[in-house]
Amino acid sequence: MRFIADVMLGKLAKWLRIFGYDTVYNPYLTDGEILRIAKAEQRLILTRDTRLVLCRYAKPNLLVEHDLLPDQLRQVIRELDLQLKGKLFSRCLICNCLLQPINKELVRASVPAYVFATQSLFSRCPYCQRIFWPATHIDKMQAQIREILNYKEIGERGDRGRVHPDYS
Ligand SMILES: [Zn+2]
Repeated sequence: MRFIADVMLGKLAKWLRIFGYDTVYNPYLTDGEILRIAKAEQRLILTRDTRLVLCRYAKPNLLVEHDLLPDQLRQVIRELDLQLKGKLFSRCLICNCLLQPINKELVRASVPAYVFATQSLFSRCPYCQRIFWPATHIDKMQAQIREILNYKEIGERGDRGRVHPDYS
């Protein structure tokens, strides 16, 4: 399943990339360009725009009903039945490309010395050439993801108290 997100949904797009889903997001795209790309690349349109979903060409789509990111994520995960395990952090968060593993020796000059000394697995975005490695903020993200996933399991009971509003 592939997505294109409208201008209102930048954070949601970033998190779908964290979850490994191919998600086009460009705040400068017009509605017409979004429809054209969605059709050409068979992408589901994620939008906050109640008028856009009425357009007969805006298919398939999901109208995102919430302003806050955790609510948006839970809606998308639930309604599209997304499977999140096994694909985390496989995609560049900036340009959406699939990351490629890279030999540690090749990144020596590109990463801070302490990172080189303490990390063993590196990957690189083939488009922007950014180097990625498992770091402490990844642990924090995984804790947030666990909360979202837990919520998915218990969400039907309406337990909202566990979830923090800011996942930026
Ligand atoms: Zn990139």
